[in-house]
Amino acid sequence: MHIPFDNSYAALPPRFFAAQSPTPVAAPRLLALNDGLARDLGLDPNALRTGEGLAMFAGNAVPEGATPISQAYAGHQFGGWVPQLGDGRAVLLGEVIGREGRRDIQLKGAGRTPFSRGGDGRAWLGPVLREYLVSEAMAAMGVPTTRALAAVATGEEVFRDTIVPGAILTRVASSHIRVGTFQYFYARQDTEALGLLVDHVRARHHPDADGPAELLEAVVQAQAKLIARWMSLGFIHGVMNTDNMGLAAETIDYGPCAFLDGYHPDTVFSSIDRHGRYAYANQPQIAVWNLAQLATGLLPLMKDREAAVASFTETVNGFATHYQSEWLTLFGAKIGLSTMEEDDADLIQRLLDILATNRDDFTLVFRGLSDGSAQDHVTDRPAFDQWHQMWIGRLRRDGAGEKAQIALMNRSNPAVIPRNHHVEAVIAAAVAGDMDLFHAMHEATTEPFTPHPLFGAAPEPGEEVQATFCGT
Ligand code: AMP
Ligand code: MG
Repeated sequence: MHIPFDNSYAALPPRFFAAQSPTPVAAPRLLALNDGLARDLGLDPNALRTGEGLAMFAGNAVPEGATPISQAYAGHQFGGWVPQLGDGRAVLLGEVIGREGRRDIQLKGAGRTPFSRGGDGRAWLGPVLREYLVSEAMAAMGVPTTRALAAVATGEEVFRDTIVPGAILTRVASSHIRVGTFQYFYARQDTEALGLLVDHVRARHHPDADGPAELLEAVVQAQAKLIARWMSLGFIHGVMNTDNMGLAAETIDYGPCAFLDGYHPDTVFSSIDRHGRYAYANQPQIAVWNLAQLATGLLPLMKDREAAVASFTETVNGFATHYQSEWLTLFGAKIGLSTMEEDDADLIQRLLDILATNRDDFTLVFRGLSDGSAQDHVTDRPAFDQWHQMWIGRLRRDGAGEKAQIALMNRSNPAVIPRNHHVEAVIAAAVAGDMDLFHAMHEATTEPFTPHPLFGAAPEPGEEVQATFCGT
């Protein structure tokens, strides 16, 4: 298997990572391969489907040119400081330069590492398939995200609450550098490492940023855009710890994530998020909190610390402006508006408030605006009808023309999202040995703007998933 690796992270000093080969597994089997992504990376999908490819995805053979490592990082988890986390079950094989630039190829669930703490270093089938489906759906909806290249079953058992089948996800990312990577070196007062990390991240993700201050600004802006995208699709990440926020501003570390069915700002799915810290509506302010931790980590690089504290505070607080402007553009597009007026935020908020009252389905209502079916999914019809009149008036004033407005709505409002109850059904089938439902759902959710009779449907009463589990 020839893969043209070009490994820049492994060229950083040894304290950035631990050299770590994946631990071989008993009986690997390919469950899914992303042919399109493979081609984008300059890899031949047919070669990846061979025994050699499978051995790589399983961690049973390390391809030539790989420098397998586990990355060091720290982080705040649910607000509490953890000085050392790191890749406890992930091995970065290396980087390739694909059609869209440099990409990490990482095996998640590849065995124990020096960062495993009490963990087994493994992943199980459920979260691997969830991450595969959801990250690929996000990519199809145009949201910056890590990608899924392959999923393999290991043929080994994993012990969670019960015995479950083991699996490994091959994840592709612009990088796996996190806010927590900066925190790791900040906590160790390793200013030299912070400087190297800044240079590395600038070169990789923000080439126009001249120094730490400009890097912070670029990350704040990119994160504001990312979180606004999540909000516009009803996506709840579920574990926005600082170790799960990437400097590339891609959605990363899909654990107990979920999309809203019924809309309510307080919605939480994650079973470990007892206090709703990472609830739907809290995501922007949590992003700001995380970015403040990044800013803190950059301070030792600044000559005039006091001045830097003031300017970094301003930069981080600037998130709100970028976020609000992006939110308005995205939600404006969802209701067919390509240019915004002063009262439009209000108009959008009113619709959201109507949905929240009865937890009406976020996706079906927005999608239904373009074909007249929205009203069928709203409980408070009088309130909706009143809103609808105001909205039609606003569309008339917009001047873009009905055809263009409908087209805009239909490419802004997905008809198919990876809904929880479907994900759970896919996982149950896969555990029973049937991958057909996974492939059907994958096909439907990677064409998110094309209606689908089965996967476009909201859960029936009683079918709703109330809680998702972390997936470790
Ligand atoms: P997460 O909540 O998935 O972002 O993981 C938080 C930390 O726990 C990271 O350092 C992971 O590498 C580590 N971790 C999660 N699951 C396992 C596992 N099964 N074995 C070892 N480390 C793990
Ligand atoms: Mg993580």
